[in-house]
Amino acid sequence: MKRSVAPALAGILLSVAVALPVAAQSQQVNVYTGRHYQTDERLYSGFTQATGIRLNRIEGNEDEIIERIRNEGANSPADVMITVDIARLWRAEQAGLFAALKSPVLEQRIPANLRDPAGNWFGFSTRARVLAYAKDRVQPAEVANYEDLAAPTMKGRICARSSGNVYMLSLLASIVAAKGEAEAESWARAVAGNLARPPKGGDIDQIKAVAAGECDVAITNTYYFVRLMKSSKADEREVAAKMAISFPNQANRGTHVNVSGGGMVKTAPDKEAARKFLEYLSSDAAQKYFADGNNEWPVTEIKLDNAELLSLGQFKADTVSVAQLGRNQPIAQAIYNRVGWK
Ligand code: FE
Repeated sequence: MKRSVAPALAGILLSVAVALPVAAQSQQVNVYTGRHYQTDERLYSGFTQATGIRLNRIEGNEDEIIERIRNEGANSPADVMITVDIARLWRAEQAGLFAALKSPVLEQRIPANLRDPAGNWFGFSTRARVLAYAKDRVQPAEVANYEDLAAPTMKGRICARSSGNVYMLSLLASIVAAKGEAEAESWARAVAGNLARPPKGGDIDQIKAVAAGECDVAITNTYYFVRLMKSSKADEREVAAKMAISFPNQANRGTHVNVSGGGMVKTAPDKEAARKFLEYLSSDAAQKYFADGNNEWPVTEIKLDNAELLSLGQFKADTVSVAQLGRNQPIAQAIYNRVGWK
């Protein structure tokens, strides 16, 4: 199927050029993504090599991608949308941006709790929300569970980002799923009261604040910590070296895990190409690039050669379905508003 992208978009389309037979060049897939990682180049060129389908990539920040597809409406050239965190996948689903895709390949390759049962979106990699703490000031037992952050002994010792952030929303959504709304609210109120400073910055800023002595424990996604471990800057590697990671709730429900994922856009001009690309993302070859590009874990059983990521070790993950965490988003937001977590 031959089609072209609206001229206004052409300027920012990045096409992965791979030598192909002329006939094969007529099919293409337009991927809107919030990811910008070096290794994604190999991910995209691998798809074209495997299928002969040309790939056009539109990059934007996570929230822009959803707005953009929404604004383009029926004329959107987008076939596939890729984003991070169930909070955003859920927002896109709520906005009606996805088409439900029935794919035996994806259903077989991706664990059921990491994809939408209706096929609107699929998780292609996972990240855990963990506690990074100062080894010299915190005992592991003090940070064994998310619930420990609510203890009076944690007063003034925690750094966390603002509650409007999707990672914080999804973490609280997981606590709502495990403990119910009332207990989740008590937790959020206590932790907000234990913060060392008003929320500001991203996860890396929280980790660095611990290393700088401003607080003792940071709430962070795993890949940010791994990024510091692998940093080309010695001072950033030293930050990671001063700290340890707790995977919370190992003796009970497990650590909160979220996904990076995507789905077929409802108005996709080429639904067949979209399906092929999404199925490709679950292949062993693609999984390695997709997950490793951001120091995440693949959703399939493949071997990683990411020494720093592997050094975090094995852990028990909370197996609540991420779809449930999506449905709990409005509850989580309302709780944060009620407890005054900025
Ligand atoms: Fe992130």
